[in-house]
Amino acid sequence: MSSARKNGHLYRSLQSMSVIPLLVLALIITIFSYYALRKAMHTEVSIELRNTADNVIMMYDLLYPGDYHLEGGDSSDLFKGTQLLTDDHSIIDRLKSDTQIDITIFYQDTRILTTICNPEGVRITGTGASALVIQEVLFSGQPHFYTNTEINNQRYFAYYTPLRNSNGSIVGMVYAGRPSSEVDAVVRRAVLPIILIAICSMIVVSIIASSYTRRLTNSLQKIRSFLSKVSTGNLWEELDSDVLRRSDELSDMGYSALYMQRSLRNLVEQDTLTELNNRRFADKHLKQTQLNANTYGNHFVVAIGDIDLFKSVNDTYGHDCGDVVLKRVAAILKNHMIGKGFVARWGGEEFLFLYDTMGLDDAYAETEILLHEIRRMKIDYEEHTIHITMTFGLAEGGVNTNIRELLQKADTKLYEGKESGRNRIVM
Ligand code: GH3
Ligand code: MG
Ligand code: MG
Repeated sequence: MSSARKNGHLYRSLQSMSVIPLLVLALIITIFSYYALRKAMHTEVSIELRNTADNVIMMYDLLYPGDYHLEGGDSSDLFKGTQLLTDDHSIIDRLKSDTQIDITIFYQDTRILTTICNPEGVRITGTGASALVIQEVLFSGQPHFYTNTEINNQRYFAYYTPLRNSNGSIVGMVYAGRPSSEVDAVVRRAVLPIILIAICSMIVVSIIASSYTRRLTNSLQKIRSFLSKVSTGNLWEELDSDVLRRSDELSDMGYSALYMQRSLRNLVEQDTLTELNNRRFADKHLKQTQLNANTYGNHFVVAIGDIDLFKSVNDTYGHDCGDVVLKRVAAILKNHMIGKGFVARWGGEEFLFLYDTMGLDDAYAETEILLHEIRRMKIDYEEHTIHITMTFGLAEGGVNTNIRELLQKADTKLYEGKESGRNRIVM
């Protein structure tokens, strides 16, 4: 599997883990709000309709005292007391214009007065109530609320209440209603801001989750790429500082990867006894120094230094003592080279120095200081105090120098120094 795919997969997994629950939550909130608001709205409308129907009854009672009854030639005119009601829609029309609520007054199950008109604009007086309403309101004498009743091909939220005369007998019904579409529109209008808020919050949270996920997977990707480079031997690869600047487990992971790289580098490029760089490191850096010289045109000097008559130290005081001497010498050499270049353990008691931006004279002067320090050094081992000297061979390089030849030249100078009595610098 390619690395890009692995990264993308993790990104997508984390992304869906954070966004899908949010989506579900937003959906649940929206559905719940819709139903809760719908229920609240229905309750409110039912109260409003009941009050309106009761008001209608009360108004007629106040305005026209007496009972409802039919009179006239064919007994089709509805009276209340002495007042003829048939065809006088003024009261219910005014109520409708004030409240937008449709009102009907039934005598028995027949509409005598109504604000509801058919599509031609003619009031639907003379039509009858549905069988269900007749049964549940007129016959049983109980008021009833309907959420979805059909009148004149339109759906209504409707409230029917029995109309009684003074002796308590039921003479008809009063209806108050609003078209269902109107009530639904109010519910929809009330839910819309909630849906918008839910959508906006989801978008905002998704953006935050997405950017967090991206930063997380980017850091993981950087650590992964760093580790894969280290695993193929790139021990000088740098880990992106963004990873280390994080304040979570990933920066810990980044630091661990860096420490691992450093340990590996030490294992591969450091000499364990003296803790100086080893020959492998020196080879690599000599090549780099040469490349730099080719680019910038600078000079540099390599020196090979060898401890004089070191075998006799081993022979006289033992191998362990030889090791102590090597360590002490190494510490001095390392300290001396700070800011000038580097020193590596080139072989047994032989060291390679690189003065990376110096000419031969300056490097000679520096080596003299170093040799002076070595000569003055007292190494205490058990009851013995050991003094040593070293011999150095120097050679200067520059643009297009052949490193192998340069090292041979320094080695030849070292040999000359040994031949001519040791404890000296030859260039
Ligand atoms: P010269 O002045 O000609 O360099 O004489 P030398 O005795 O220093 O040179 P030679 O090559 O004869 O001996 C080097 C010795 O260094 C031999 C070897 O045992 C010793 N040596 C090399 N590496 C180590 C080490 O890690 N520890 C110890 N104790 N001795 C070492
Ligand atoms: Mg030696
Ligand atoms: Mg030697």
